[in-house]
Amino acid sequence: MNLILAILVILSAFHVLVPYVYYLFMKRIAERRPWGLVLDQDYEPKVSMIIPTYNEASVIVKKLQNIEKLDYPKEKLEVIIVDSASRDTTVDMAKKYVKKNGFPFKILILEEEERRGKGKALNFALQYSKGEVIATSDADSYWEASALRKALRYMAYPQIGAVTGREILINLNRNDYTTAEGLYRKFYNTLRIGESKYYSTLIFQGEFAVYKREVFEKFEDEKGSDDTGTVINIISKGLRCIFVPNAVFHDMAPSTWKGRMTVKTRRAQHLIYALTKAVKLKIKRRIPMSSLIIFVNFFLHVINPLLSIALLGSLIYLLYEFPLFLVCIPLLFLSRKLRAFLLSYISNNIALVLAIFRCIKGDRQDIWQKVPEMRY
Ligand code: GDP
Ligand code: MN
Repeated sequence: MNLILAILVILSAFHVLVPYVYYLFMKRIAERRPWGLVLDQDYEPKVSMIIPTYNEASVIVKKLQNIEKLDYPKEKLEVIIVDSASRDTTVDMAKKYVKKNGFPFKILILEEEERRGKGKALNFALQYSKGEVIATSDADSYWEASALRKALRYMAYPQIGAVTGREILINLNRNDYTTAEGLYRKFYNTLRIGESKYYSTLIFQGEFAVYKREVFEKFEDEKGSDDTGTVINIISKGLRCIFVPNAVFHDMAPSTWKGRMTVKTRRAQHLIYALTKAVKLKIKRRIPMSSLIIFVNFFLHVINPLLSIALLGSLIYLLYEFPLFLVCIPLLFLSRKLRAFLLSYISNNIALVLAIFRCIKGDRQDIWQKVPEMRY
């Protein structure tokens, strides 16, 4: 029994310390290291912005109004909406809006005959794009007017292949679930900035991703995510992909347990496939970036969640031996901040563990149901 307990405690220590030490390391870099890039304020390439939609009638007009406000020369931005046979009025509403109000940028509305998933839709749209830079964004996320320019300043640098932006949650203080996501995002942002300054981050967000056209043939649409999967392919060609904190977009966090688990588990599945691919490339020496970022991210998303089971085991043992501690548990949930932290920690780990098993089963989540509470 003592041996089992000792093993559980050691595994639990790993579970807590690896993320903590990596966080401290990346935080130091994020705060102290300069970017060391020569930014170009005047870089103004031709940009194609692709918005994939499936049943987005509730937000499509708001999304178009958001794009209209982008600070970018009229003749240098084209917008491509690619809809995969929505069953609602997404396409009609988009067409009507453009016709009635005019649209400052060139806009193309493509309609796929059947739904084959977001990655495939992005690649369909890519064939029609003419930009030197390809941007992707989701229908339910809204960019700040300056965000594109801010991202492009970094893109001017030859070594940079792609840029992703920072998310601000519109409904951060709505309830414990949204606060929990906000806390997780703080941790996430620090890691992504640190990794980007160190060399490159692997993890991108499709809500705000900007890629140089010449550095990729197509979006990853087989296994893994269209954002992180594509970025890993770009890094393997010797380019850096970075998270730029002042390029900002706004969107909503899920505000229920069910919504949170649905989104987190699906996104985690995509991420696990992509990170597994990065590890394989690293082992075959086909990705020229430091092992640290690749292996720690794989550990954090694939191994560490499984170690949370050891932490749970240790806690159960502790409570069994010292039942008085049981009284303390409700106390932990009294502080709003601690409650959000525990909620974030627990839900993230459950989602990752579920995702690992679904990946092992081969579930790819190419096509998914949207979470309506993330649209307003
Ligand atoms: P989440 O933010 O991870 O929950 O993902 P969303 O459900 O918001 O999807 C991101 C974007 O991809 C949204 O604009 C969706 O409308 C779009 N999308 C999802 N599935 C498909 C699809 O099969 N085809 C197309 N064209 N777009 C899709
Ligand atoms: Mn979304």
